[in-house]
Amino acid sequence: MTTIINPFERLAPSDGSANIHHFINGQLRAGKSGRYGEVNNPAQGSVSGRLAFATKAEVDEAVSAAAKAFPAWSHSPAVRRARILFRFRELVEREKQRLATLISAEHGKVLDDAKGELIRGLEVVEFACGIPQLLKGEFSEQVSTDVDSFSFRQPLGVVAGITPFNFPAMVPMWMFPIAVACGNTFVLKPSEKDPSTSVELARLLSEAGLPDGVLNVIHGDKETVDALLDHPEIQAVSFVGSTPVAEYVYRRGTAAGKRTQALGGAKNHMVVLPDADVGQAADALIGAAYGSAGERCMAVSVAIAVGDRLGDRLVEELIPKVAALKVGPGDFADVEMGPLVTKAHLERVRSYVDLGVKEGATLVVDGRDLTPPGVEEAFFIGGCLFDNVRPGMRIYREEIFGPVLCVVRVNDTGEALKLVNGHEYGNGAAIFTRDGAAARAFVEQVKVGMVGVNVPIPVPMAFHSFGGWKRSIFGDHYIHGPEGVRFYTRLKTVTSRWPGAFVPGAEFVMPTAK
Ligand code: NAD
Repeated sequence: MTTIINPFERLAPSDGSANIHHFINGQLRAGKSGRYGEVNNPAQGSVSGRLAFATKAEVDEAVSAAAKAFPAWSHSPAVRRARILFRFRELVEREKQRLATLISAEHGKVLDDAKGELIRGLEVVEFACGIPQLLKGEFSEQVSTDVDSFSFRQPLGVVAGITPFNFPAMVPMWMFPIAVACGNTFVLKPSEKDPSTSVELARLLSEAGLPDGVLNVIHGDKETVDALLDHPEIQAVSFVGSTPVAEYVYRRGTAAGKRTQALGGAKNHMVVLPDADVGQAADALIGAAYGSAGERCMAVSVAIAVGDRLGDRLVEELIPKVAALKVGPGDFADVEMGPLVTKAHLERVRSYVDLGVKEGATLVVDGRDLTPPGVEEAFFIGGCLFDNVRPGMRIYREEIFGPVLCVVRVNDTGEALKLVNGHEYGNGAAIFTRDGAAARAFVEQVKVGMVGVNVPIPVPMAFHSFGGWKRSIFGDHYIHGPEGVRFYTRLKTVTSRWPGAFVPGAEFVMPTAK
């Protein structure tokens, strides 16, 4: 049985070495680069772990392990690969409490939210358990006389995943379960801010029976990512993170000839029409804007109130709810919002709130100075709410990635739609209304990848695919669901005839059906 380290008992070693290791070829490996990163416990503001950033040689080692494992793994029957994933699902279920504790300790999110991301990750595992069905090909009998044709999908080889801090379990699980189910082998580079969950997931998959080398985890920063992007053995790269890095990864990955999907940042709008139930819309906004302290790529960070009367009522509903948010350590009962992930991120979010005030937006709830007693060094900020935000402001245009909601007031639905469609990001958008025709027109005309109708966070289920439009994605394939299977495989089409059916004599014209 795998023992998961209790993060609350863990402290970075005082001799400066790393206590978070790579996982290469089925083994934990101490990093040897001498370049270190620190992992925090954001609810205490203390350093809880240290990890060594992988060198090019360590990346080579992980990729070679994956390349060595590929022939046997890709040759194994899909049902056998699926059975390992079924066992993995049970093991993650068994370890859910401890994994959630680990996520909360490194990321800061509340325990129930951490469990929620594990469940959403497991749904991708459940989808991947259906891989024999998903890889079923197509067959056409008698495409010409005594000639049959069939198509099927084969794995690519070694593929890599690079993931962000905000979902340390779910986003890696958007990638590796489908990739390995398809027969690929995988090298994962998780966020250096909360890397331990990935290692624990790899160890559990190993316990479930995954052969050594099929899933490897290496830690690192840009240098490690560059080594992956340039590595000739890696066939495809999945990336999820901020837009500037997504664009960079896409350009460098595709320049190196790799199939690359790179999902980037977001600024998700929720449009509230005058006929909406204001109480319901306000509740939806509170969960969607402040859940996980706004550190979600599908968080709602802009509420567009259509009509001034609706705007006044909505802001009136929101103010007491934002002011009453229960902020505290993620493992405390009843806490609704944990701290931000790092001190640097806390300072960045605070500086955006300062900027909004300077830009002339009305800060109706100011959470900047929230410091729970006894944890003054921790990375807490309370919920912040801006009214009268205008489209030219940087707090409207840029992704803040914190518990900051901007209310923009417009006169009609057309103006609301124009704003959403004019924004550089196009991940998700929601509309709240009782008017079916208005909702239908919005769904048809809005330029984003994921749309909610009276649903504030329309994250597709695992058997659909996830992805945005515009600068929220680079590449042609979305992630998980059917698009995930297509991304991690390529098509082969066979045309066959058996010797008894040969017609004597050479044919020089283009073959056609006879
Ligand atoms: P990030 O871009 O800073 O980091 C993501 C990954 O890229 C990490 O593994 C990191 O080590 C690596 N990285 C960072 N800088 C790099 C560089 N210069 N060169 C190469 N690699 C680099 O993102 P983050 O702060 O960890 O995560 C938050 C961002 O991720 C937000 O913008 C959020 O919207 C986005 N996100 C998007 C989705 C989506 O599905 N579209 C999902 C989750 C998060």
